[in-house]
Amino acid sequence: MSTPAAQSPVVTRFAPSPTGFLHIGGARTALFNWLYARGRGGKFLLRIEDTDHARSTPEATEAILTGLRWMGLDWDGDVVSQSANAARHAAVAHEMLAKGTAYKCFSTQDEIAAFREQAQAEGRSTLFHSPWRDSDPADHPNAPYAIRVKAPKTGATVIRDRVQGDVTIQNTQLDDMICLRSDGTPTYMLAVVVDDHDMGVTHVIRGDDHLNNAARQMMVYEAMGWEVPVWAHIPLIHGEDGKKLSKRHGALGVHEYQALGYPDTAMRNYLARLGWSHGDDEFFTDDQAISWFDLDGIGKAPARLDFKKLAHLTGLHIAATEDGAVLKGVQGYLAAAGQPTLTEGQYAALMAAMPFIKERAKSYGELLEKARFCLIERPVIADEKAAKALDPVSRGMLKDLTPHLLNANWSRDSLEAAATTVAEANDIGLGKIAAPLRAALAGRTATPSVFDMMLVLGRDETLARLKDVSA
Ligand code: GLU
Repeated sequence: MSTPAAQSPVVTRFAPSPTGFLHIGGARTALFNWLYARGRGGKFLLRIEDTDHARSTPEATEAILTGLRWMGLDWDGDVVSQSANAARHAAVAHEMLAKGTAYKCFSTQDEIAAFREQAQAEGRSTLFHSPWRDSDPADHPNAPYAIRVKAPKTGATVIRDRVQGDVTIQNTQLDDMICLRSDGTPTYMLAVVVDDHDMGVTHVIRGDDHLNNAARQMMVYEAMGWEVPVWAHIPLIHGEDGKKLSKRHGALGVHEYQALGYPDTAMRNYLARLGWSHGDDEFFTDDQAISWFDLDGIGKAPARLDFKKLAHLTGLHIAATEDGAVLKGVQGYLAAAGQPTLTEGQYAALMAAMPFIKERAKSYGELLEKARFCLIERPVIADEKAAKALDPVSRGMLKDLTPHLLNANWSRDSLEAAATTVAEANDIGLGKIAAPLRAALAGRTATPSVFDMMLVLGRDETLARLKDVSA
């Protein structure tokens, strides 16, 4: 399906209301808009819908920007503030008035309430029909008025939606919506359309909770004779149990995902798959997502959060990411989780350990746990399980190992040869000497291979840790 708007350069937008943090659903909407624009050489714009002064806060705006930055969703141009455009919104309402597609309504709140009460009593639709719609301006009182757009009275409005298909709304269900209140302030419904038009938005990709708004917003497009954008209303995200997302489903803000140790690369991959698919592809890069993403791949059924899948993708992304970038991610994670930053020494150790810990770490936290051996300082305190491997006989073996290590050239082969020599001399398998070594070097039973650890720790630190337990 294509519409004229689809042929102009693509402009998408993300238009959050700044009433809290960047929600996981919002992040997915932003991602879809970003992918769509980036894959077509288009623009991805950001508009903060801050017209509801009572609920919008600057802190929330900042939190949303921070969330988008972490997600790597860069926007084009300046952030647009909807409230800053209020004068333009009002001007458009007056333009509709001049065109005759809108009218001044002098009905008071009391009159409207009385109308509704009567309609209800008579079992009619309570949609307000203003008596001023077709009134003669000569009869207008000198009183405050709202500007209402004239809704079509017959027929139906069809939203040609790229996800939902054609959605038909009977026009009898539409009322003459207020565009400008009697105090001169524009309504949200008007503001969205004017801003989208003025920003040159060609594709409106947003949650399907806005589908009903689309029918009403179409009235403004029609009243102004503006081109209607391509609509794509995407199903909302549900929890693992299939129910609407709520706090009990766990992390809702993207900042929480950062603090849980998920990398932004994995988040983009995971969120892209939340409601969109490209064949059977599960694991992909940003470049692939950008070139593959299309509205046709968006499903009609609500997607479900699946933390296991996110953890799995995290493992694949950490393994596939260049070491320096992983470390940058780790530093962001530590800051987000309120943990101390890495010292210079820890940073260097982590860099050296990277080849041995990068595989199968399902979060940055797991990665750091694997790297724990090179982040801690002597003396290494063995946990209860590991301590069992440090019996007097084993300690003796570690002591025997020391001169061999002193002579080793610190290649993996030489370290293995040294351990094998001592194991053979004691008539035991290599595994039996690995356990006390692990305990001495890391104080844990689950660690990278003992030889990998020795390579990362270096000769002096390795010998010092062995001495600590065998002296
Ligand atoms: N501000 C709306 C929201 O946060 C989005 C409006 C739109 O995308 O048109 O849900």
